[in-house]
Amino acid sequence: MTDINCTRGPVGQETEAFLAAETHKLLLDGQWVESASGETFETCDPATGEVIGHVARGDIADIDVAVSAARNAFEAGPWHAMTPMERSQLLWRIADIMETNIDELAELESLDQGKALYVGRWAEIPGAINQFRYFAGMATKIEGSTIPTSINYQPEGKEVFAYTQKVPVGVVGAIVPWNSPLVLTAMKLAPALAAGCTIVLKPSEDTSLTAIRLLQLMQEAGLPNGVVNLVTGYGNEAGAALAAHRDVDKITFTGSTATGRKILEASKGNLKRVTLELGGKSPVIIMPDADLSAAIPGAANAIFFNGGQVCIAGSRLYAHRTIYDEVVEGVAETAAQMKLGHGLDPATQMGPLVSAKHAAKVADHVSESKNDGASIICGGEIFGVNQSFVSPTVVANAKSDSPIVQEEVFGPVLVVTPYDDFDEMVTFANHSPYGLAAGIWTEGLSSATRLASRIKAGTVWINSHAMYDASLPIGGVKQSGFGRDSGQVALENYLDLKTVCAIV
Ligand code: NAD
Repeated sequence: MTDINCTRGPVGQETEAFLAAETHKLLLDGQWVESASGETFETCDPATGEVIGHVARGDIADIDVAVSAARNAFEAGPWHAMTPMERSQLLWRIADIMETNIDELAELESLDQGKALYVGRWAEIPGAINQFRYFAGMATKIEGSTIPTSINYQPEGKEVFAYTQKVPVGVVGAIVPWNSPLVLTAMKLAPALAAGCTIVLKPSEDTSLTAIRLLQLMQEAGLPNGVVNLVTGYGNEAGAALAAHRDVDKITFTGSTATGRKILEASKGNLKRVTLELGGKSPVIIMPDADLSAAIPGAANAIFFNGGQVCIAGSRLYAHRTIYDEVVEGVAETAAQMKLGHGLDPATQMGPLVSAKHAAKVADHVSESKNDGASIICGGEIFGVNQSFVSPTVVANAKSDSPIVQEEVFGPVLVVTPYDDFDEMVTFANHSPYGLAAGIWTEGLSSATRLASRIKAGTVWINSHAMYDASLPIGGVKQSGFGRDSGQVALENYLDLKTVCAIV
């Protein structure tokens, strides 16, 4: 497992041109500027540790400028006057221009985040483009309703006319993580823009590059000044300032449950609206009647895709005892055969984790589980020139309350457990502080639907895992957060309901 190719392969001319920038700046009111402090931070290729860019380190001063630009664009700027059809056309143009630049976006995502090229090029970047197309269609369908009331104290000869309007919430702070940076950013920007909001975007300090490139492309597509402002920087500086800002009306956040709690706390000052898409520890359940030729690779893909750095990763596998050995052997075999390497190598199935620091954290989880009495069936090693690769790992015999079963590892680590009957399996699956997603593998329609209704999760997949679409709401219950991204319901995150009641 140690003879992997960590060397960075060639990238296209456009990607080289983007990387040649001396400093990647902030976008404030349509202008690319240095941070007020003049400070920058490095962004690295996680496979090699090589510095691939210097990014402006925004802080509270830059957040102030960004919020006031967004406020002005919302209240008085050209955005204010744009019709829903014009917003729709802009969103569609953004999608088109992203598609024209899809190879560059995928290369930048692989370089900055580490992900295997196919993940960005064929799943996440097309997914990001689809968000803009889907919500382009929604911009023209924001409707209120007329309401027949029973009010009967209006003056003689007068009537009551009551209706609702859906109005944009105002200035939105969007804070996103590093695991799937561009698609998660698109999940925030597209519905917020469709609704008529303006935005301050704060990407993760580990993966700023595709957000910067996206904003350049959005400007090419005709984005008016101040409508989307970009402040790169650290979470406890730029992120915390945005979450606490009194002139921000709404925070839409995707990230860890721990940071979600801080965001909620910070939002109390002006009681801003909050949507939280947080962590997960999602169960994958393989029932005895499952088609194992699909379920075994499906379960392996549910955890090893993007190195397990996926919020809905199927990190707990429950297989019926009659098929348990066959399932575990099959998943471990898939793990052993996976080709690890630099994300840009087209043969790579799994790249490095986002950083050496994160890889060490993941490997620590595995070794602690061993000290806790679990057995490591395969994987758990850390390697590569930057010590950022973790081999796909399968852990068995873990106690149901142990950290490896209860905590989000956010790496390629699967915990496997046998079950004997339906009710025991439901108890196992729901024994978690999280409730983001679940995967069920069975050929029985009745047990699949019965189980889907008993699992506490925002999304349940049957005979699949991680099937995303811009039309499908995604989000969690319990400590996986509240609110939904994607789908028609996501638009509501960015709308307030106004009731108008008139005597006419
Ligand atoms: P994180 O919480 O550390 O950081 C997320 C973002 O919040 C980053 O931009 C960071 O700079 C910022 N941030 C950090 N501290 C902050 C603060 N005090 N105030 C404001 N902003 C702050 O998460 P991460 O490690 O970047 O991402 C991994 C986590 O994201 C995992 O828990 C994963 O499950 C979760 N996630 C959830 C979903 C979902 O849809 N539910 C999707 C993807 C990732």
